[in-house]
Amino acid sequence: MPSAIVTGGAGFIGSHVVDALLADGYAVTVIDDLSTGNPARVANEADLREMDIVDLAALGAVAEEVGPDAIFHLAAQASVVASVEDPGRDCEVNVKGTLNVVEVAGRCGAPVAFTSTGGALYGDEAPMPTGEDRMPAPLSPYGASKWAAEAYVKTWSLSSGIPHAVCRLGNVYGPRQSPHGEAGVVAILSHHLYSGRVPTLYGQGKPTRDYVYVGDVVRALMAASGKSGTYNIATGVETDVMTLWNVLRETAGSKLEPQLADLRPGELKHSCLDTRLAQKELGWHAEVPIADGLRVTYEALVQEFERG
Ligand code: NAD
Repeated sequence: MPSAIVTGGAGFIGSHVVDALLADGYAVTVIDDLSTGNPARVANEADLREMDIVDLAALGAVAEEVGPDAIFHLAAQASVVASVEDPGRDCEVNVKGTLNVVEVAGRCGAPVAFTSTGGALYGDEAPMPTGEDRMPAPLSPYGASKWAAEAYVKTWSLSSGIPHAVCRLGNVYGPRQSPHGEAGVVAILSHHLYSGRVPTLYGQGKPTRDYVYVGDVVRALMAASGKSGTYNIATGVETDVMTLWNVLRETAGSKLEPQLADLRPGELKHSCLDTRLAQKELGWHAEVPIADGLRVTYEALVQEFERG
């Protein structure tokens, strides 16, 4: 039976990766410190180890025990606000933690698929849709630490000869996303609709993002595993927040009106990723149209809210 390690497997995206690997017949070990993760998201068939990826000795011991055929590295300090408040910890988890992951991957010869960010890396001046060859211009410590981590993933791939992949994700949405974070606008707006609370749409609802359904992201990570390269994983379609709100509101059958406000400092006006390289080299493209993905997500999130 093939085996895989998923770091951050108790998180939103990681828990879906775990499910896909189990369905493909893998024995799955999850490494997660549960800082934002939730053990309830982890399938019973997976082996959950509560552990910090910054602890190289502990990470190495688990990797030696498991002998993974593949590693999916999603564990991260993933909050832009937290990265500004504590850039040291952001660096420790995202840079040193990632270095630890590629180091133990080297010891067991396993390829790593690493989740970086498309949104926080390219900045506002980039042409739309933005290609992978655009020089990063991060605006936050989070963007900087992901960029540094990418460099380690790439150099360790070169020196070890193991194909590691960097996947720069767009704005991911789907079931199990928490409505309590700063990002995850789909989950946040869904929770407002569910509880009848008026949301605030910043930038007057005009900022655009490249929203990609979590199921499409999981397929991309599986396709990227064992490949060597840097890939934008998104849809190449820009959607503004007002459109997002309108689809969710219609799905919810609500008449709630949002409050509009100016963009907050540091927030991007537009983000949209060119995904042709992933299409060409991974044979992957996003399949779920945003309207369908939003409806499925809203229905699933409402059930999650009801369960508490
Ligand atoms: P998430 O917060 O739900 O998942 C991250 C997981 O990592 C959590 O379960 C958390 O407990 C765990 N973790 C954090 N620090 C850890 C540590 N030191 N040791 C072990 N585990 C640790 O976030 P997500 O949205 O599922 O994001 C997954 C990955 O995708 C992250 O690397 C994130 O940066 C990246 N990403 C996400 C998006 C998005 O739109 N959600 C966009 C771009 C990139």
